[in-house]
Amino acid sequence: ARNSNETGIFLPHLVASMEQVEETYIMVKPDGVQRGLVGDIISRFEKKGFKLTGLKLFQCPKDLAEACCWEFIDDFNLFNIYLQWLQEHYKDLNSKPFFPKLIEYITSGPVVCMAWEGAGVVASARKLIGSTDPLQAEPGTIRGDLAVQTGRNVVHGSDSPENGKREIGLWFKEGELCQWTPAQAQWLRE
Ligand code: ADP
Repeated sequence: ARNSNETGIFLPHLVASMEQVEETYIMVKPDGVQRGLVGDIISRFEKKGFKLTGLKLFQCPKDLAEACCWEFIDDFNLFNIYLQWLQEHYKDLNSKPFFPKLIEYITSGPVVCMAWEGAGVVASARKLIGSTDPLQAEPGTIRGDLAVQTGRNVVHGSDSPENGKREIGLWFKEGELCQWTPAQAQWLRE
């Protein structure tokens, strides 16, 4: 629907605010970081036209916990909190046989945490990412182009708007997200 005020004048800057804006949590997994795919992955969401509102490289503290053993009890506690938090992130999967390997994989090195915003971003990001099994993922998708195995599928994307909000809340602290208006906004949407 066209957006106008009482005078009937078209106000394009109000259109975006009328749309259902969604958020999704996208994460380049440790294999994506190690293989130097971070730029390519970010680029696909940027070029599509979604808005980046949060971005950080995050070193999963498992190595730290293994290295510091029991003397550094605070860090070890931190590690346990982190594991519980990962279990919360993957709460639908923690009864699956591959769950311990999944945690091992996700904590095996730095990950790139991202929050992206836009109308329809959750489902669209899932399409850009492709099927869970990279061999089934369509060419042109991230997994279809860049991966060969489910256990090394380079990227995570939230599966619903509710989980998008939930996961952004888990992975980002208050103050780490940035609200801004991209200069290209008027060239992306009428
Ligand atoms: P998606 O990441 O496509 O939303 P799921 O939510 O089903 O897929 O699974 C979450 C992650 O768990 C996958 O991306 C993958 O890293 C891992 N995973 C899922 N199924 C398997 C499996 N059969 N073997 C190993 N890892 C798996």
